[in-house]
Amino acid sequence: MTESSNTDTPTVTFSDFGLHPGLLQAVAASGYTIPTPIQAQAIPVVIQGRDVMGAAQTGTGKTAAFALPILHRLMQYANTSASPARHPVRALILTPTRELADQISDSVVQYSQFVPLRSAVVFGGVDIGPQRDALRRGCEVLIATPGRLLDHLEQKNVNLSHVGVLVLDEADRMLDMGFLPDLERIVRLLPVTRQTLLFSATFSNEIRKLGRGSLNSPVEIDVAERNATAENVTQIAYPLSGAEKRAAVVHLVKSRGWNQVIVFSNTKIGTGRLARQLVQDGIKAESIHGDKSQIDRMKALDAFKAGELEVLVATDVAARGLDVVGVPCVINYDLPHSAEDYVHRIGRTGRAGASGEAIALYTSDEERYLFDIEKLIKTKIARGELSLPAHVGARPGSGSRSTHAVNGRDRDRSRSGSRLHEGGSSRKPVDDFFSRPYVPSPSVKQSVPQAAVPRSASHKPVGILLGGNR
Ligand code: AMP
Repeated sequence: MTESSNTDTPTVTFSDFGLHPGLLQAVAASGYTIPTPIQAQAIPVVIQGRDVMGAAQTGTGKTAAFALPILHRLMQYANTSASPARHPVRALILTPTRELADQISDSVVQYSQFVPLRSAVVFGGVDIGPQRDALRRGCEVLIATPGRLLDHLEQKNVNLSHVGVLVLDEADRMLDMGFLPDLERIVRLLPVTRQTLLFSATFSNEIRKLGRGSLNSPVEIDVAERNATAENVTQIAYPLSGAEKRAAVVHLVKSRGWNQVIVFSNTKIGTGRLARQLVQDGIKAESIHGDKSQIDRMKALDAFKAGELEVLVATDVAARGLDVVGVPCVINYDLPHSAEDYVHRIGRTGRAGASGEAIALYTSDEERYLFDIEKLIKTKIARGELSLPAHVGARPGSGSRSTHAVNGRDRDRSRSGSRLHEGGSSRKPVDDFFSRPYVPSPSVKQSVPQAAVPRSASHKPVGILLGGNR
């Protein structure tokens, strides 16, 4: 049975939740005064130990919505003992991407800074040694991507038998990205009696249905219309030829004086190439995609977060959950083939109540993807026209052009267009870096018996994943 929580406007303060004083101190130190809607609804329910299915747009304060009540519940175990045995993993937070894991970890560290609870984060692409040391020292909260967690389980660096809370963040994405077999292996190592929280920016009907049937009387929290895009993000689409797109990016960034713009490209090769071309055009740009080493990706992200870049060109790897405050604009250089990816991409701007712009550059071949997006978000995206000065992005062989209006269409057509039915769209992840099935690191000894960590490639046991074996 499911029940809904319907508080639309939060009238509560953080102290109304009865959170531990050390956590309230961290909330105050973070500068939060009013709980966001997802926090207002989720925190009391999670504190009670209930299972939750939470649908919230990106940038809504989702992390604190689950992290604060989890930390509160773990306070009964808080201790300052140096003994690892006194710090077993009690809450496991699984996320699809390394960047998101890192970001959630930062938040957990921030929220637990005044209480004696330990946290650790493990993700692939970096040296496993320091992570092993941290796990062996013990931690109450573990944030992990599935593949690297399995590496640590194989190495017996961590034991999950005391886990009482499981969080699946971006749950639909983890399933989309092919993590299901890895998740099943992990979940089978957890105690059957536990609290399970599913958080996701969007819920496919499949996940919603399975969640309803499989979680333990979950409280369903939906603070945003499903697949809606942030209201404070202005969306516009410019029809262009493929050859004009690069010049359009240069023009937009330069003429608007933007810093910290995220430009999405669909392919790893295209992402790296566009970043290099933008640098040639005099733009401070870097790229982030799956073929870069984790270290290089972190460097690029750090530079971007520090405001040192005008443009970060990214594949969808960067589209989920990343929290960079102050991104004024997201440009879709290629339209995503999955409409849901569009929602996640443009969720990178307009975060935490700020306003933002989402610009789509599309060729006539790509217009069908725009229609898919409009169906999904149930909103007509305004079409605009872009005047590109001749000198912008001019490159050998491209020919010079005078200032012109590109493929003129109505300027600034209203967003309140026709309401369309939600429609299907291709859900294939564009960047497969994180979607490859788990393969143990070469350094990892196959020491865990397969019976203890069963493998299954079937998609049937989603119910088990969600707690259906209880
Ligand atoms: P999240 O959706 O968890 O990625 O959070 C998005 C951003 O909102 C982060 O920068 C948080 O620090 C911030 N944030 C979370 N909760 C609050 C709050 N109650 N008041 C103000 N900012 C918040």
